[in-house]
Amino acid sequence: MLTKTKVSKEVEIISGVTCNKCGEKQSHDEALFVERAEDVPFTGLSVHYHAGYYSKELVDMTIYSFSICEKCLVELFGTFKIKLEEQDGFNLTRSKFDTNGW
Ligand SMILES: [Zn+2]
Repeated sequence: MLTKTKVSKEVEIISGVTCNKCGEKQSHDEALFVERAEDVPFTGLSVHYHAGYYSKELVDMTIYSFSICEKCLVELFGTFKIKLEEQDGFNLTRSKFDTNGW
């Protein structure tokens, strides 16, 4: 028979995400019991970019992490020389390579 004892464990949770570009924080009214940044319901973009051996502009083998809010993403998209592709998220099963449709 196992003898069980209840213990309290202190954990670090993520309570918000701050946009690295504008500094605005998207926080949540109630504490989110998530430990991984990718599980936070953030409406912007969170990136962990690992620069490779042949990186010319960044430091080799360095991981860059940042978050950008939706407002700053729209501004960033506006600076693109080549328009980004947009796809209807409800029709993700369709692609230009799918000849059968649904
Ligand atoms: Zn921002």
